Amino acid sequence: MTRQKIEVDFGLCESNGVCMGIVPEVFDLDDEDYLHVLTDEVTPENEDKVREAVRQCPRQAISIRDE
Ligand code: SF4
Repeated sequence: MTRQKIEVDFGLCESNGVCMGIVPEVFDLDDEDYLHVLTDEVTPENEDKVREAVRQCPRQAISIRDE
């Protein structure tokens, strides 16, 4: 079965927290504005919101990759 992985291009990310607002269980900004991907696995539970974050990221820094 194909797994789907969440990837963030940190060269593009500007730490504005849009993704964290949509799906905080996956994306977390720390006190120093560094974005952490808490889990890089797309699951049936988070898929809709992760895809929304991909669409909403103003820098188009988030992608989903098939493994
Ligand atoms: S929405 Fe995009 S630019 Fe903003 S913190 Fe998330 S990955 Fe970075």
